[in-house]
Amino acid sequence: MNIFEKINSLAKRRGFIYPGSEIYGGLGGFYDFGPLGAELKFNIKQAWWRDVVQARDDVVGLSASIIMNPKVWEASGHVSGFSDALVECPKCHKRFKVDELKKKEKRFICAGCGGLFENKGRQFNLMFKTFIGSAEDSASLAYLRPETAGGIFVNFKNVLDTMRVKIPFGIAQIGKAFRNEINPRDYVFRMREFEQMELEYFVKPGEDEKYFEEWLRQRLEWYRSIGLKNIRTHEQKKEERAHYSKRTVDIEYKFPFGWQEIEGVANRGDFDLKSHAKVSGKDFSYFDEETKERFIPHVIEPSAGVERIVLALLCEAYEEENERVVLKLHPKLTSYKIAVFPLLANKSKLVELARRVYNNLRKDWVCAWDDRGNIGKRYRAQDEIGTPYCLTIDFDSLGKEDVTVRDRDTMRQERIKIKDLKDYLSKLL
Ligand code: ATP
Repeated sequence: MNIFEKINSLAKRRGFIYPGSEIYGGLGGFYDFGPLGAELKFNIKQAWWRDVVQARDDVVGLSASIIMNPKVWEASGHVSGFSDALVECPKCHKRFKVDELKKKEKRFICAGCGGLFENKGRQFNLMFKTFIGSAEDSASLAYLRPETAGGIFVNFKNVLDTMRVKIPFGIAQIGKAFRNEINPRDYVFRMREFEQMELEYFVKPGEDEKYFEEWLRQRLEWYRSIGLKNIRTHEQKKEERAHYSKRTVDIEYKFPFGWQEIEGVANRGDFDLKSHAKVSGKDFSYFDEETKERFIPHVIEPSAGVERIVLALLCEAYEEENERVVLKLHPKLTSYKIAVFPLLANKSKLVELARRVYNNLRKDWVCAWDDRGNIGKRYRAQDEIGTPYCLTIDFDSLGKEDVTVRDRDTMRQERIKIKDLKDYLSKLL
């Protein structure tokens, strides 16, 4: 098995990620997050929300609906333009995105079977369609949102009118997005249903470049703060960028399958607000009380995918040491913070004391309990899922009212009095 296969296998075996609808043979591009994966995702989203929204005076949050009036997607250009060129290989009949294929002279070569075909891709819209109400006709056609940003733009005026916000300010949202990808691949890297964490930061025209730099710097710093080291930026060339984008920089992670985008930071100019103003007939201008100027704000958008960050973190954290596999995840992201073990499961005094410690710590942290097998195996099992601290209650603990605290990374053990445990762990976590 190569590293990527090992990470896939660990994620499945230990309850991070399961194939979607597995008992019915799965469904391409859909995955379910198990108990540990759900915690990890929750912690990533919480860290983002805390840093991008709650810790700042200039950003507010939003939770818009997934299905919106289809006019939203007409105005944003998704109905007419959110598509990939799709080709079907004449030899193996698999479908490909044209830009995934290698070029051979004027023709394209199919990745799987080597079949050759002309570039006759037809445009395939990536939005999922659905119907509202009981009549399945075009009058009730709607889309599952392909990005969360749409909900932010249509609520720009609502936020402006109801909150005390002044330019520059941002509106942030975390939520599901759906894209009918032609080729879902690389595990949870390219899926058909995923979660985005997006910020639209509205600025005065002319100040966009300054804030672009500032957000790019902050986003890179954020990735470092959650322990992602193998990151770099990729400046998109004009031909790679969306037509409205003045500048886009991708933040990429070095996955085992190559450098790939985990977040895009884009300068979207005034495209979105202008388009919505035009289609809705509403006024999206902003009046600056200080300078007495009226303008359409420009917007800087850092847009990240939760599952791509999960995958990057698993790749970064996975380490094989002599006798163990360890996930060296940042403690603020791990599914469990602490595991508690009574040395022996059949000694009621030990179990009783361990339960007391466990129940007390659970008030503050997500904890695991394990009383099966030998202690070495229990440590290994927690290392593999990244639990930073394991506590063992042994016979000495009964008299001395203390426990052994074992550190995941150094494997060093220290005895700490039960009454001092919370203080001790608070400092570490
Ligand atoms: P790509 O070029 O890889 O298709 P994109 O440029 O279309 O991505 P954006 O529209 O910029 O992606 O979306 C912002 C973020 O949403 C991406 O950086 C990524 O983390 C996430 N994302 C986009 N598409 C998917 C997908 N199919 N599966 C998982 N995450 C995705």
